[in-house]
Amino acid sequence: MTQQIANIISNTIRSEINDLPTYKTATAGNMIKLDIMENPYTISANLKQQYLEKLSCVALNRYPDADARGLVKLLKSSFNIADDNDILLGNGSDELIQLLCLALNKNDVIMSFEPSFAMYELVAKFTQLQYVAMPLDDNYQINLANSLELIAKNKPKIIFIAYPNNPTGNLFNKQDIITIINNTCSLVVLDEAYYAYTDANFLAQLNNAPNLLIMRTVSKIGLAALRLGFLIANKKIITQLNKLRLPFNINSLTQVSAEFFIKNDNEAKMQIKQIIISRDKLIKQLKNIEQLTIYPSDANFVLFKTLDANNLFNYLLKNNVLIKDLSTKKYLTNALRVTVGDEYENKIFINLIKKYYAQ
Ligand SMILES: *Cc1c(COP(=O)(O)O)cnc(C)c1O
Repeated sequence: MTQQIANIISNTIRSEINDLPTYKTATAGNMIKLDIMENPYTISANLKQQYLEKLSCVALNRYPDADARGLVKLLKSSFNIADDNDILLGNGSDELIQLLCLALNKNDVIMSFEPSFAMYELVAKFTQLQYVAMPLDDNYQINLANSLELIAKNKPKIIFIAYPNNPTGNLFNKQDIITIINNTCSLVVLDEAYYAYTDANFLAQLNNAPNLLIMRTVSKIGLAALRLGFLIANKKIITQLNKLRLPFNINSLTQVSAEFFIKNDNEAKMQIKQIIISRDKLIKQLKNIEQLTIYPSDANFVLFKTLDANNLFNYLLKNNVLIKDLSTKKYLTNALRVTVGDEYENKIFINLIKKYYAQ
């Protein structure tokens, strides 16, 4: 039986999938969870009551609106999307990355920077594409000459640019990105997952760059449970990508919830303001600890380095605080990433680090 299963797998599953490690996400139990850029705050009892009333109207026996028309219309007006652009919804922006890659020919090239969001390379593998990385410089900025050269050489069909970048937290030089957009006919996807935590974005460039697409998600602003991402681009490009979308990819509960929280966004706006204040405070406090090197952040997390990164990570873990250990990854030697939590969580985190270095 075991041998038969092994044969079935080797006869059917592509070897590169067979070779892939299982994708792991940490389970945090009742730990202080500062690992994956969630908004730490929940909603008030009053807002929750109104929300539950909306949810109770969902017809669970019916398929969702396959085109999520109400939600698309609301998103277009709330982001001021011009008429010649359109929006494509995904089950998280991860699904949109997958949809984009599914549109390409086998072995086409997609590119991104390194280090950046791990999903671009993974999805390239899933969809039988080639992935080529452009190394960032020592400050995690774009090395423009080198990147343009790599783009000319590899002729990618899609370039993914996380802005702000994950896991480094910084914004790339905007003019460098514009130069890249103007110097290539590939699609350039600006992944603005952290748009709420910065004033910088590429929405204004949409109308003068036909190859520019902007991708956003509600995951990092307090609605990670919904799984909703959206891609904004020229109508004709969206029409093609939309053909690849599975018809009911956005479930009814997500559609109703997203509409509700877009219309009732006061609490989320306050939370985001608070997270930005807490981020800047956290950066200041971390900078006071001489063993650490802190990187600038325009997102809701902070990258920092220390010579004993893995030890510090384990010390925090032992004390019930989960952050992200990146220290074994390429270009991220000694690096740890912490998501901004609520004020209580940030205080515990900082105090533990101080205690660790005082021993
Ligand atoms: C978190 C993250 C995403 C994934 O967003 P989902 O909508 O939750 O799938 C995409 N891009 C970047 C850069 C991220 O950090």
